[in-house]
Amino acid sequence: MRTLSSYLQGAWQPIAGEPAATLVNPATEQPLAHVSAAAHLREAAAYGRDVGGPALRRLSFRERGALLQALAKRIFEHREALLDLAVESGGNTRGDAKFDIDGATGVLTAYAVLAEQLGDRPWIIEDDPEALVRTSKIRAQHISLPRHGLAIHINAFNFPAWGMIGKLAVALLAGVPVLSKPATSTCLLAHRIAEIITEGDLLPPGAFQLLAGPIGDLLDHVGPQDVIAFTGSAATGAKIRGHAAVLAHNVRVNIEADSLNAALFGPDLEVGSQLFDLAIRDCVIEMTQKTGQKCTATRRIIVPAALLADTRERLSERLAEVAARTGDPSVKGVRMGPLSTAQQLADAREGVARLRQRATIVTGDPERRAFADLPEGTGYFLEPILLEASAEAALDPSAPFHAIEVFGPVATLLPYDGTLAAAAAILRAGQGSLVSTLYSDDRAFTAAAIAELAPHLGRLVINDEKNAAGAFSPGCVFPQANHGGPGRAGCGAELGGAHGLGLYMQKTAIQGGASQLARIIGNRPGTTQSAS
Ligand code: NAP
Repeated sequence: MRTLSSYLQGAWQPIAGEPAATLVNPATEQPLAHVSAAAHLREAAAYGRDVGGPALRRLSFRERGALLQALAKRIFEHREALLDLAVESGGNTRGDAKFDIDGATGVLTAYAVLAEQLGDRPWIIEDDPEALVRTSKIRAQHISLPRHGLAIHINAFNFPAWGMIGKLAVALLAGVPVLSKPATSTCLLAHRIAEIITEGDLLPPGAFQLLAGPIGDLLDHVGPQDVIAFTGSAATGAKIRGHAAVLAHNVRVNIEADSLNAALFGPDLEVGSQLFDLAIRDCVIEMTQKTGQKCTATRRIIVPAALLADTRERLSERLAEVAARTGDPSVKGVRMGPLSTAQQLADAREGVARLRQRATIVTGDPERRAFADLPEGTGYFLEPILLEASAEAALDPSAPFHAIEVFGPVATLLPYDGTLAAAAAILRAGQGSLVSTLYSDDRAFTAAAIAELAPHLGRLVINDEKNAAGAFSPGCVFPQANHGGPGRAGCGAELGGAHGLGLYMQKTAIQGGASQLARIIGNRPGTTQSAS
């Protein structure tokens, strides 16, 4: 069986010692590959900083954008084989696999387009020069430049392609070299993409390295110009934030962690409307796509009490259809595959048991063992589980559905009295989320909800009847929109178009004479202000 190694200091590392992990197909439990642990991570970090950094900084934004476009093209050329690998190694249906892989090339393309707008300047001009004192010609102007460090990207198991490439695209456009560490359990896909990236020397030496297997002592070697972008559990995020070297050097850390995203059905929503159908469609997608292993999946469905019975009935019908077609995702017609690992299945079952302390299951059996096209008990399967709590429990901020993210096809119906105050209290009890969605045609309610809810979210999707036909399901993270959220969600921010570059750049105020600033720095593109 093949053993995967790391790509460090411009070469695939020799395989040494016992494998650190064995990767399996989560539907059939067949072993697929071993992963070997890497060494010499101090040298790898230095190589990225000293070789990759200067090479990237010599390129303009436009030139770096051309690299991203070339990477997107290269990955797209391998799309079919990558989709097959994602199905085999990650428990993805073909649709799930497309979501991951096409999402990855989509981010590359979006940032390549942004690069064209940023053009050939060596820095981003953040604002126009501002006089420090009304009578003085001395001004201050903010510009952003690439940090002279390494971007360390630590990713979760659920999006081996999008997670790695989404972060890579932004860092490379900013001009910062990357050392990417995918989650071990699903790193087969990330490793294959790394092979594609490194074949043919598309990127400058040192611009990209891959650490397969455990993190080792990498974080002991971080420096003050480095950036750590982490996606994963809150517990690991806290360890990274509290790491001695990270603290000692005040390393910039971005955390994307757990999130109890909500769907809020407005008080005006009517059964039979297109908007109600959209809300049901979205909840089913967000519970079952990637078997619910999405940080943006809907975990709490906040429904006016008057709509509860209809919502329960419609969701139960639709989820039962998915449950009937849950099985080996390589088989045609299967709608939902397994969870990624045996540990994820054990954690999800335990999480459901904890939710049941304050909610009852209305659809789904967490102990089901027989799934399509597989011997009973094979694979890490969990059918969709819908729970329901009372209106009183829904308002209790200590209830488990406000605290436990069951990382699987699981959500809880939470009834409310139709007032924004109650809906907001329920949503806020999640203590900060990546995304939530409102379904309402009541503009006054929607405006008040934006003011009330947005501070608790990284993204708020508002859907109305008029736009229902073209609406995207809320778990789609577009590179133009912010990804991240306050509080429990990690308090991070990634993507969001040009906003995303800020993570990898240093914003500096340049203070000097007005004419000097105008000559050397100039104005923001599109503005005409001139120095006097
Ligand atoms: P995890 O166990 O925290 O692992 C995440 C990553 O951290 C993996 O690459 C892991 O490597 C690495 N890691 C483990 N211990 C570490 C340490 N001491 N120092 C540095 N890195 C370390 O999370 P997961 O199980 O992969 O992912 C599930 C969680 O991710 C869920 O809670 C989900 O909500 C969250 N998530 C959030 C987002 C978001 O954007 N907010 C997106 C996806 C997932 P190994 O695999 O080698 O252990």
